[in-house]
Amino acid sequence: MKQRMVVISNRLPIVVSQDDHGEWQINPGSGGLVTAMTPVMKANQGVWVGWPGCDEDAPIGRLLDTFAEKEGYSLAAVPLSEEEVEKYYFGFSNETLWPLFHDMLGNCHFNRDHFEAYKKVNRKFAERTAEVSLPDDFIWVHDYQLAMTGWNLRQLGQWQRLAFFLHIPFPETDLFRRLPWKNELLLSLLAYDLIGFQTLRDHRNFVRCATSLVPGVKIVSRHRNYTILRHGERTFRAGHFPISIDFEDFSARAKTKEVADAAWYLHENFEERQIILGIDRLDYTKGIPERFLAFERALEKYPEMEGKVSLLQVVVPSRTMVPDYMDLKAYLEQLAGHINGRFSMHSWVPLRFHYRSLDPVQLLAHYRSAEIALITPLRDGMNLVAKEYCACSVDNLGVLILSEFAGAVDQLGKHALLVNPYDVETTADTIFKAFIMPEGERRRRMTLLRSQIKRFDVHQWTKSFISKLK
Ligand code: UDP
Repeated sequence: MKQRMVVISNRLPIVVSQDDHGEWQINPGSGGLVTAMTPVMKANQGVWVGWPGCDEDAPIGRLLDTFAEKEGYSLAAVPLSEEEVEKYYFGFSNETLWPLFHDMLGNCHFNRDHFEAYKKVNRKFAERTAEVSLPDDFIWVHDYQLAMTGWNLRQLGQWQRLAFFLHIPFPETDLFRRLPWKNELLLSLLAYDLIGFQTLRDHRNFVRCATSLVPGVKIVSRHRNYTILRHGERTFRAGHFPISIDFEDFSARAKTKEVADAAWYLHENFEERQIILGIDRLDYTKGIPERFLAFERALEKYPEMEGKVSLLQVVVPSRTMVPDYMDLKAYLEQLAGHINGRFSMHSWVPLRFHYRSLDPVQLLAHYRSAEIALITPLRDGMNLVAKEYCACSVDNLGVLILSEFAGAVDQLGKHALLVNPYDVETTADTIFKAFIMPEGERRRRMTLLRSQIKRFDVHQWTKSFISKLK
C-alpha cells in the first residue's frame, strides 16, 4: 500500500523503562495489533497516535524520536492526566462499554461523568491526529476506547479515508439500547468510511442497530463479508474481518530448542499426566470460574482421570484497579483451594493456579507442552490464545476445547471440541472426551486447525481490511 497510514489506538506500541543506571529506554511493544501493523507502518513511514502510558518523568519527546529513527515510523503521544485515565479508561471504557459489549449487563456501571471524560479524551486523540496527519493519509482507529474519535476528526475538518476496527464483540440491539448515550455513540460510528468487526454476528448486530435506531440509515447492498449502508448523502461500509496471529512466527519459535527444552522441563513437573491449559487475562468474560467447576465435575464424574491429569491455569493480572476484577481474583483462589482440598493426593495437585504473566519463551513452552487447551470465555471478540495454542502445537497432538461464544469459533469451530461454558455438565464430558481422544483423531483435528490459521494469518487480515477501503 502506497498511502501513508495513521493508526490511532489507546496505547502506543511501546514499552518505556529505566535500566540499572537510570537511563531511559524505549522498545517496541508486543501483541496482536503491533504485529499486524508494524510491516505496514514501516513500509510507508506511518504515524501511530496513542497514550504513552509511562511515568511522567520520562523524557518522552526524545524517546519517541529515538524510536522513529530505529523503527522507521513515528509516534505521536497523547498525554492523559490521572483523572482522565481513571474516568475515560477504567471508567467508561472498562466499566461500561466492555461489559455491555460482552453481554454482561450485570457488570455495567453507567456514569455520566465518565462518559463526559470519554468524549473529552476521544476529542483529544482527534486533535493530536489532526496535527500530524496529511490530506492523503488513511486513518485507522482501533477499538472501543476510541469509538468517537472519527466523528471528532470530521468535526475538525479532516476528510481523509477513515476506518474503525472493533476488537471486541458488538451487542444485539436490545442490549445496546440500555446505554443511556446510545444515540451519541452510534451516530459517531457513522462518521467512518469503513467499520470492521470480528465476526458476522457482530457485523449483523451493528447493521441492525444502525438501521433500527438511527432514522434515515438504509442498507444499499449486501456482499459476502460487508454491507454498504447509506446515511443521508453519505455511504459507508460495515464488514467482518476476523483478526489472527503471525502463524509462521509462532510455529517457528515453538520449534526452537530453547522452547522445546522449556516445554520438556515444564512437563517434567507434571510427570506422566496430561496438562490441560488455560491462559487468560484476569477478566470476568473469560469464564474461568465456570471452567474450574467443569473441571471439578469431570474429576467427580470420571474417576479414571484421577492422578492422570492437571489443569494448569495461568491468569495474567489485568485492570487490578477495577473492583470487579479484584473480587474475581479472590473467588478464583477460593475455588482452586476448594478443588485441590477435595481431590489432591500424594504428589498430585489437580489444579495449579498461577497469577502472573509469562515471558515469551515460557508462554510458547506452555502452549507446546499442553495436551489439551481449555478455552471457555462467556463471550470474547476473537481469543488469540486459541490460535496461538494451535500454532505452537507443532507435533499436531494438542486438543482444542473452545467456547462457542469466542469469535475464533467461526474459523476453528469445525475441528475444535465446542462447549457452552455455562453448561458445566457437558463441558465436563468434553474434558473427558479430549482426555481419551486417540492419537489419530488428535492429529487429524490439529493438522486441519493449523492449516486454517496458517491460511488466514494476521498479514492476510491487514490486507483484506485495507482492500475494503479502497
Ligand atoms: N499473553 C501475554 N502474556 C502472557 C499470557 C498471554 O502477552 O503471559 C498474550 C497472548 O499471547 C495473547 C494475548 O495475551 O496474544 C491475549 O489475547 P486474547 O485475544 O486471547 O485475549 P484478550 O486478553 O485480548 O482479551
